[in-house]
Amino acid sequence: MKVKDPVCGMKIKIHEAAEKFEYMGKEYYFCSKECSEKFKSDPNKFIQPSKKHGCCH
Ligand SMILES: [Zn+2]
Repeated sequence: MKVKDPVCGMKIKIHEAAEKFEYMGKEYYFCSKECSEKFKSDPNKFIQPSKKHGCCH
């Protein structure tokens, strides 16, 4: 099972995640400690509705 690192957007496997953080009842996984620190300092900045204008994958 793969998850997305909300900070850098990298796809990682859960068991390979460097850090895990629970926020608002959801679990988030990070590729590195650095990403998790960024997330913890301002989670709302990284949790965005998928409606955001931007690329289309
Ligand atoms: Zn990352």
